[in-house]
Amino acid sequence: MRKVLNNGYINLVESMGHDQAAIRNARRCWRSVSKGDQADAKLIRHLLKAGHKSPFEAMVFTFDVKAPLFVARQWFRHRMGSYNEESLRYCIALRDYYVPNDISDQALQLWKSHNERAFNLYDQLVEGEGLPKEQARSVLPVGIYTKFYWTVNGSALMNFLMLRLDTHAQAEIRVYAEQILEIVTEVAPVCFMEFSSEVIKA
Ligand SMILES: Cc1cc2nc3c(=O)[nH]c(=O)nc-3n(C[C@H](O)[C@H](O)[C@H](O)COP(=O)(O)OP(=O)(O)OC[C@H]3O[C@@H](n4cnc5c(N)ncnc54)[C@H](O)[C@@H]3O)c2cc1C
Repeated sequence: MRKVLNNGYINLVESMGHDQAAIRNARRCWRSVSKGDQADAKLIRHLLKAGHKSPFEAMVFTFDVKAPLFVARQWFRHRMGSYNEESLRYCIALRDYYVPNDISDQALQLWKSHNERAFNLYDQLVEGEGLPKEQARSVLPVGIYTKFYWTVNGSALMNFLMLRLDTHAQAEIRVYAEQILEIVTEVAPVCFMEFSSEVIKA
């Protein structure tokens, strides 16, 4: 499990396929089989340059993610993937919220007291006033942490990384993308090293 932001994390819980699945599927086009590391890397490079991305769909990853709600909201815009998120209709919200590490002491104090007050109000509404959790959650800020599983294939993941590693992406989602790139490069080094040099550093 890799820690991200003040209290989030990302963890690869399951994966299948990896390099060999992408190489196998791509080589079907040429009626060939894996020809060793260098030839396979060259093939992956060719696929990335040509936009021949479907062989990467043979790789599948499931991540366990804990991220602020506003990060999850940006993440869920990536439709090519499957999500299951903890529900604040069914679960009580935990007093757990994003705190940036690069703000002044005064901003930090204001930040924390606002979040604490919001959670105090939430607790009062649920426990004191008997409001349903699904309604009371409306008073909570967008920086509270949520947890979800994300299942995504290699092609959709590359699209996510391309967009979310970019300097135009918000820093708080970029740090998750950076961790993901490191994780998938460990499990599928040929595809993601070529992806890094062809697409990310291009
Ligand atoms: C820096 C940045 C700023 C952004 N700002 C905003 C913003 O202000 N407001 C906002 O609403 N969104 C914003 N977005 C979200 C953005 O518009 C995309 O929704 C998000 O990045 C997901 O990208 P995607 O559609 O490529 O991914 P996915 O949804 O995973 O789709 C992958 C690919 O599948 C294809 N596809 C999927 N669905 C369709 C479809 N319905 N029709 C045709 N092709 C489809 C496309 O080729 C797409 O690239 C921002 C994204 C970034 C990275």
